[in-house]
Amino acid sequence: VWNHCLQIIKDNIPAQSFKTWFEPIKALRLEGNVLTIQVPSLFFYEWLEEHYVGLLRKTVKKQLGEEGRLEYNIVVEKSSNNKPYTTNMPSNGNGAEAKQQSIPVPVSLNKDIKNPFVIPGLKKLHVDPQLNPNYCFENFIEGDCNRLARSAGYAVAAKPGGTSFNPLMLYGGVGLGKTHLAQAIGNEIKRSNPDKLVIYVSCEKFCQQFVDSLKNNTINDFVNFYQAMDVIIMDDVHNFAGKEKTQDIFFHVFNHLHQSGKQIILTSDKAPKDLSGLEERLLSRFKWGLSADLQVPDLETRMAILKKKMYTDGIELPVEVIEYVAHNIDNNVRELEGAMVSLLAQATLNKKEIDLGLAKSMLKNFIKNTSREISMEYIQKLVCEYFEVPAEMVKSKTRKREIVQARQISMYLAKSLTKTSLKSIGQFFGGRDHSTVIYACQTVEDLIDTDKKFKTYVQDIQKKLKMS
Ligand code: ADP
Ligand code: MG
Repeated sequence: VWNHCLQIIKDNIPAQSFKTWFEPIKALRLEGNVLTIQVPSLFFYEWLEEHYVGLLRKTVKKQLGEEGRLEYNIVVEKSSNNKPYTTNMPSNGNGAEAKQQSIPVPVSLNKDIKNPFVIPGLKKLHVDPQLNPNYCFENFIEGDCNRLARSAGYAVAAKPGGTSFNPLMLYGGVGLGKTHLAQAIGNEIKRSNPDKLVIYVSCEKFCQQFVDSLKNNTINDFVNFYQAMDVIIMDDVHNFAGKEKTQDIFFHVFNHLHQSGKQIILTSDKAPKDLSGLEERLLSRFKWGLSADLQVPDLETRMAILKKKMYTDGIELPVEVIEYVAHNIDNNVRELEGAMVSLLAQATLNKKEIDLGLAKSMLKNFIKNTSREISMEYIQKLVCEYFEVPAEMVKSKTRKREIVQARQISMYLAKSLTKTSLKSIGQFFGGRDHSTVIYACQTVEDLIDTDKKFKTYVQDIQKKLKMS
């Protein structure tokens, strides 16, 4: 009977789908009008039910009459509790419109059935987590740009699957540390729980593996592998866009892992709400846990990243070189490091000491826009260094004389040297409004006209700003 069914099914679906989803099914028995078939996993059953329930129902009725029923016997990988699952799919009644509702119910499994897909002793499985050991928390510099993401990552690493951050979605632009941070979580989990099965996989690789598994008819192995993990780190999920079949599979893997309290970590170039080309049901799950963004690091953080990198590599560079590089490459950590590496390489080749002049001439190619705007944060930094006041004070409410002076000069320079609007300048310097900025500029201009010493100060700072 089942062979007759298969014949009908084969004529109704693409050959590839037939091969993947129907060839692995075994007919077990026919009792009265109940046909029992065996599928290799729960996932398989879910998939059939989701995609082929209508076809199966029709086919079975055709073969066994209106009262014909189909019963599944599912081989369950983990037989520790000896409670495999079987489920019924009644094919009678007015099934055409009724949406199938099958809840797996535990029954005893026929002992003779050998499951070729069982991974014996799942917990003893060894999996190379595919992690780069350098991408650890110690090497990840903390700054305002990544504080939330980093601490969420840390919490997840301490209690994988045990926080409400599941999934943890890290998102942000290119080269801002998503892969590094995601892998740091994986490395930390492996460090404290070597037995946990952790896997890092890029979305692209996952898609490729899926296509391969279709080709080789190993879809069940593929899914079993990922569903056996304790932690999955999936990088760059925006690459799922347009790949409906792979999304479908990942949806199942996601559900399985999430339901069993396993940790899911995702990265993406956009916030879940801005991701396009992904199925709604997958997106909605991406929003379940916590989404934390990685932003462009500020100057201080960029310098700290460079210093840390040099320290790790055992290199020393003059502070003004680091500052120069960090100041000029301000939107991407990967480029920042790239510039540094290229600088070091060229210096080694030319057997020269690296000083500011050399850095400037060598980094020309890296710095696309040499006449780039001076940034407000750099103005703030230089002004405050000049007057020896703490940089963050100019953003505070304090009215101490030297702070007010530094603040006003900073605003004046921001207005004359950048294209920033008065409103944004006020915003940057402690959330003040644009009239405060106008007042500051007037005050500074008046003082330049009347106070020689003051004029020298401002000119000095301007010179320093232009030099860099
Ligand atoms: P993304 O995945 O967001 O494109 P990566 O994680 O690949 O970015 O980061 C690019 C490079 O920048 C890596 O070499 C990474 O180590 C480094 N990096 C990014 N952020 C930091 C940080 N906060 N501290 C140290 N290194 C960082
Ligand atoms: Mg990345």
